[in-house]
Amino acid sequence: MIDMKDVWKTYPNGVSAINGIDITIGKGEFVYVVGPSGAGKSTFIKMMYREEKPTKGDISLDGTNLAKVKDRNVPLVRRKIGVVFQDFKLLPKLSVYENVAFALEVIEENPETIKQKVMRVLEIVKLKNKARFLPSELSGGEQQRVAIARAIVNNPNVLIADEPTGNLDPDTAWEIMDTLEEINNRGTTIVMATHNKEIVNTIKKRVIAIEGGRVVRDEIRGNYGYEI
Ligand code: ADP
Ligand code: ADP
Repeated sequence: MIDMKDVWKTYPNGVSAINGIDITIGKGEFVYVVGPSGAGKSTFIKMMYREEKPTKGDISLDGTNLAKVKDRNVPLVRRKIGVVFQDFKLLPKLSVYENVAFALEVIEENPETIKQKVMRVLEIVKLKNKARFLPSELSGGEQQRVAIARAIVNNPNVLIADEPTGNLDPDTAWEIMDTLEEINNRGTTIVMATHNKEIVNTIKKRVIAIEGGRVVRDEIRGNYGYEI
């Protein structure tokens, strides 16, 4: 599914964020990415959705070498990858329905297909009854669930989440985990960068720890392993 071979990333300012990573993530896995601030977690996952390109090495996603994808072809690749962020990134003037439909309208699906797909994912994230609401009328957890619905509406093989519970209170964070596990159970691979020690230590999954741009630990059913 995702295969990194000797991946390095140096930013234009000279900071070397990733220093030789080899990793394979299989179909259907659920992986936490942990490590101290500045360790390279965001850079590591940004390369998985081709937000950043490695300076050296190869990243294969379902056989596509992301390191070689040209800027103009990024939208094509993104259809295979869903991404959610700590700050949701919803469009504030669009309803829940429209926020989710947007990704499909961009690729010119027909209106009936769009409606079916949007209502199907709103059902998965349990927000069918709030389809007409604006993001500002929802709780933080609901907004994150809209973002998750939008990320999966194209049926991606991989969902990448960068600190998806970072802005949420603990109860809401657990709700988001229920949603992510449900999506994972339906077959989507999930890669989630997180600082949430309780979640990592309770909902046991593979843990990849990054420090100084290198993988320092990779455990099936691992622990968070840091104090905060
Ligand atoms: P983490 O997500 O673990 O906090 P990052 O991947 O954000 O780590 O950052 C790793 C290193 O790369 C840090 O030293 C950070 O300052 C640097 N860095 C991150 N993004 C950029 C950028 N766009 N330009 C230059 N340096 C960056
Ligand atoms: P179902 O029949 O599956 O329950 P509905 O067609 O009744 O689905 O729609 C459920 C919600 O989605 C309603 O709040 C509806 O207003 C909203 N909705 C459906 N289609 C659209 C659309 N094209 N644009 C905006 N909202 C829509």
